[in-house]
Amino acid sequence: MSLVVPQWAPRAPLEPLHLDWLAQAGVELAVLRLDLIDSLISGNKWFKLTQHLVTAAVEGADGLISLGGAHSNHLHALAAAGKRFSFPTAGLLRGEPQYTPTVRDLQAWGMQLHWLGYGGYRARHRPDFWAEWQARYPKLHAVPEGGGGLPGALGCAVLVMQAREQLAALGWADYDGWWLAVGTGTTLAGLVLAEAGAHPVFGAVAVPGDHGVAQQVQMILRQANVADRGYHLLDACRGGFAKVDAELERFILELEACSGVPLEPLYTAKALMALRQQVEAGYFAPGSRLLFVHTGGLQGRRGAV
Ligand SMILES: *Cc1c(COP(=O)(O)O)cnc(C)c1O
Repeated sequence: MSLVVPQWAPRAPLEPLHLDWLAQAGVELAVLRLDLIDSLISGNKWFKLTQHLVTAAVEGADGLISLGGAHSNHLHALAAAGKRFSFPTAGLLRGEPQYTPTVRDLQAWGMQLHWLGYGGYRARHRPDFWAEWQARYPKLHAVPEGGGGLPGALGCAVLVMQAREQLAALGWADYDGWWLAVGTGTTLAGLVLAEAGAHPVFGAVAVPGDHGVAQQVQMILRQANVADRGYHLLDACRGGFAKVDAELERFILELEACSGVPLEPLYTAKALMALRQQVEAGYFAPGSRLLFVHTGGLQGRRGAV
């Protein structure tokens, strides 16, 4: 049975975040809580999937196939969506079988899993990689790693509208820029597309320098025929993607205790720590108003830390 595009358009709430280091610098921050859109389908991964779902439906596919690691927020959101909206899903996993809380959810929600090993997973960038899987699952539409590419970015463009609609409730007439965690850069590219130069987008990059984030953002903007500007990338990985140091852990505990906002260590906490550094260095003038995207990912916290 062909996939029907889910008529589900969750809106992420925009909430002020009051912290000492912001107040001291006279900077105001509001958080777009993608972690609150749903109890199971969390964060930017739902928005990144929406246009892939439209394409799959147009192509007459039954469901989606994609790939990720054993803690993947992307596969988790995809499997949860498949379960909720009754379409089949398949997941190609990196490494050898391991039963993390994430993988147990994928199984429970009926995602067909295949473990590719490490070498097999590295082959995902080869032009012939998908041929074997398309032959095996001819009715599933293939989604690139993390839900990326131009469709993924276009699905995130709605976030700009969602935030703008809620500014008045905060008493804000306008804002001075966006701040968010970056993995592939797809979500950032979606904000850049929607802003069309109106406000800058600052990306705190959670992966080490050689992961080609800048090239991926450029490629998406080029595909959309949009100038390669309106954003800034800065390193926020703290020595490696999976590296979690004591200062980071303390930052998460303190922030959650004083604001009630939960963070996971690999993306959102590193992004906010990088923001604190810039704010303390006086990068943003007093009176600046920034929007932070809480990209979710809290499910991955169960296994990692
Ligand atoms: C995947 C993810 C990101 C990175 O999103 P990209 O679009 O790949 O840059 C950021 N935060 C969280 C919590 C994520 O799960």
